Amino acid sequence: MKISEILRGKAVTVSCEVFPPKPGADQGQMEQVVSSLAGLSPDFISVTYGAAGKTRQNTLEVACMVQRCGVTPIAHLTCVSAGREKIREQLDSLAGAGVENILALRGDIPEGTEFPDPQHYRYAADLVREIREDGRFCIGGACYPEGHVESDSRERDMDHLKEKVEAGCEFLTSQMFFDNDIFYNFLYHILAREIRVPVIAGVMPVTNARQIRRITQISGTALPLRFRMILDRFGGDPASMKQAGIAYATDQIIDLIANGVRGVHIYTMNRPEIAASIMENLSSILGR
Ligand code: FAD
Repeated sequence: MKISEILRGKAVTVSCEVFPPKPGADQGQMEQVVSSLAGLSPDFISVTYGAAGKTRQNTLEVACMVQRCGVTPIAHLTCVSAGREKIREQLDSLAGAGVENILALRGDIPEGTEFPDPQHYRYAADLVREIREDGRFCIGGACYPEGHVESDSRERDMDHLKEKVEAGCEFLTSQMFFDNDIFYNFLYHILAREIRVPVIAGVMPVTNARQIRRITQISGTALPLRFRMILDRFGGDPASMKQAGIAYATDQIIDLIANGVRGVHIYTMNRPEIAASIMENLSSILGR
């Protein structure tokens, strides 16, 4: 099913993200992750694409696993290290496997490579245009409530986002954030630019303090004081951090839904038990 139809048909959607195993890694474990997540009945499951397409084949395989479990998959696809031919091959493989949804991304610029490379795509909008011309897929794009790290201004980043949406994105999924007010402010600003596609809020349940400090350093995501206090107090104790991280993400999602946000995407880090705890906390709210 196309995600645009799912988003149109439901008051609130909850979706999950998984990343495929490295080539040669245990597929059985991945099957278990996917089947446990599918058991939570998410509206769809997204499958990431390794930097520079390193796990490209695995993305397709995991998207097929999702499909076999009866859940709609969306395959991420990056273009910074790809030319037109490679992308067309990818589109044919995805369509051949029955995958109907693509999150079209530029991808991070690989270190030590020339950018822009005249043989490759420059921005996600170029990929979005190509996929739209192809006509077989529902297309999503990424957005950054705090601005993309490479962008010198949040305003300019939103102008580029408008170009990307006009190129053919039917919905957007946001980078994780830990302060909902930043997300609400972003929604207000993009609406002022007449970006009217659904925006799905990306929520990351943090259960590992060291990992989140590293991720937020790279992505530039702000950690509000309330969240830093939790990291400082519980970061050294994995069991407490897990409990606090689940509670924080639950609280964030309740606030998002209460404020009218209609789509929430949980970055599961391939830990279905964490997504399960959050879904359990929200069972009445989500009516499932
Ligand atoms: P773009 O939309 O192309 O934006 C990249 C930068 O270029 C921005 O700073 C933007 O402002 C600027 N820009 C855009 N158009 C123009 C223009 N016309 N002129 C000047 N500047 C312009 N990475 C992976 O490798 N695999 C994944 O599976 C993956 N999944 C992701 C999922 C989500 C929800 C998110 C938020 C990110 C994901 N990423 C993934 C990371 C993403 O690839 C990087 O953040 C990447 O650096 C930007 O990708 P983009 O598609 O947002 O690029």
